[in-house]
Amino acid sequence: MPLAVLHPKSVSDISSIIKYIFDLGLSSELTVAARGHGHSLEAKHRHTKGLAPKSWTDYLHLTVGGTLSNAGISGQAFQHGPQINNVYQLEVVTGRGEVATCSEEQNTDLFHAVLGGLGQFGIITQARIALEPAPKMVKWIRALYSDFSIFTKDQELLISSKNAFDYVEGFVIINRTGLLNNWRSSFNPKDPVQANQFTSDGKILFCLEVAKYYNPEESEYIDQEIDALLSALNYIRSTLFQSEVSYVDFLDRVHVSEIKLRERVYGRWKNSTSLITPQEDIFYLVAFLSSAVPSSTGKDGLEHILTQNKKILHFCGRPHLGIKQYLPHYSTPEEWKAHFGTQWEVFYRRKLAYDPLAILTPGQRIFRREKSLWATVIKKLKIT
Ligand SMILES: Cc1cc2nc3c(=O)[nH]c(=O)nc-3n(C[C@H](O)[C@H](O)[C@H](O)COP(=O)(O)OP(=O)(O)OC[C@H]3O[C@@H](n4cnc5c(N)ncnc54)[C@H](O)[C@@H]3O)c2cc1C
Repeated sequence: MPLAVLHPKSVSDISSIIKYIFDLGLSSELTVAARGHGHSLEAKHRHTKGLAPKSWTDYLHLTVGGTLSNAGISGQAFQHGPQINNVYQLEVVTGRGEVATCSEEQNTDLFHAVLGGLGQFGIITQARIALEPAPKMVKWIRALYSDFSIFTKDQELLISSKNAFDYVEGFVIINRTGLLNNWRSSFNPKDPVQANQFTSDGKILFCLEVAKYYNPEESEYIDQEIDALLSALNYIRSTLFQSEVSYVDFLDRVHVSEIKLRERVYGRWKNSTSLITPQEDIFYLVAFLSSAVPSSTGKDGLEHILTQNKKILHFCGRPHLGIKQYLPHYSTPEEWKAHFGTQWEVFYRRKLAYDPLAILTPGQRIFRREKSLWATVIKKLKIT
C-alpha cells in the first residue's frame, strides 16, 4: 500500500515532490510511482477537431502516460509502428525533479529512455503525438481460417502490401459453438446461406480481422477496392462477415474476452527506445484475454486462470523461443536483466542518468533502492 496518494494539479507539483525526495538523498526511503489510473481514461487529451492519432490501442480507456511507458499497440502498428514511435515531443519530470522537454532533436537519450521505459526514468506530463485526418467510416471485416499457416501467410501478405487495409489483427477461436450466429448481432454474412451451413463446434479456427477506413464520398468504390483485396486471400469463403461502423465506434470496440493475435511489419519498430521486442523481423503479439467468473473455483475461476498464466509464462521463458513479454512483470533484478538482454546496459545507464536515487516506480522491482547498491553511484555523481 502506498504511504500517500498525491493528486498533482500541475507539472511543478510533480517536480517539487520529486525534488524534495531527491534532496533527502538516501537518508529517506521514499519512492514515487506514477499512476495512469490503473487502466482508466484520465489523460488530458487535447482534442483537435477532424484529427485523430495515427496509432491507437484496441482499448481506449487507458492513459497516454501509461501506454507510452509500455508501447501502445493495435492493428494500425503494422503501418505506423506502436504509439511510442508516433511521438514528436515529451515533457518529462525526471527522478531528479527536473522538468525536461525531449524529442528526437532535444535530450534525445531521455526521449528514447522514457518511451517504453516502464515509468523508470521520468513522469510524462505532456506528449505531442502524430495526428492524421480522421476518417468518418470504417468497413470492418472478419473471416475464418482453419489452417494456421495459410492464415499467417495472408496476414503477412496484408502487412507487406501498400494501400491494403488500415487495420490488421487476428485471433484464435477454440471450440466455439454457433460462432457465426453470434457474429450476426454486429456483422452481416456475405453469403447468409453458406454461413448457415458452417459449423465451428469442436474446431480450432483463426479469425482474420481487418478494417478499411473511408469517407462517405468514397463509398461508391470502397466495396470494389475491398473485394479486390479480399480476392487475394485464402479464407474459408462461407465465413466472410462485414460491418459498417463510424470511426469512433470502431475505435471504441472492446473484445476483452477474445484471444488476439497481432502481427507487425519489420523496420517500423525503432530499437532505440526502452521497449524490448523479439530479435526477429516479423514477430507476433499473442494476448491471452480470459475472463474469470467471480467466486468460481473451477476452470473459469481466477485461481485456475492465474495458474494457467504462470504455466504459459514458464513455457515462454525457454531461451530458444526468444519470446519477450509485453507489459513485462518480473520479481527479481536478475529476471529483468534477462528480459532486457543486450539492452540492459543502456537501460541501467539511463536509470543512473535520470533517476540516480531510484525514486521512480519501485513496484516494477527492476532497481532496488538500497544504500549499498547506490552508494557507488552517489559517490560518482557527488550526490549527498
Ligand atoms: C482491457 C485492457 C485492454 C488493453 N489493450 C491494450 C492494447 O490494445 N494495446 C496496448 O498496447 N495495451 C493495452 N493494454 C495494456 C495497457 O497499455 C497497459 O495496461 C498500460 O499500463 C496502460 O494502463 P494505464 O494507462 O492505466 O497506466 P497504469 O497501469 O496506471 O501505468 C502503467 C505504467 O506506466 C507508468 N506510468 C503511468 N503514467 C505515467 C506517466 N504519466 N509517466 C510515466 N510513467 C507512467 C506507471 O507507473 C506504470 O508503471 C490493455 C489493458 C487493459 C486492461
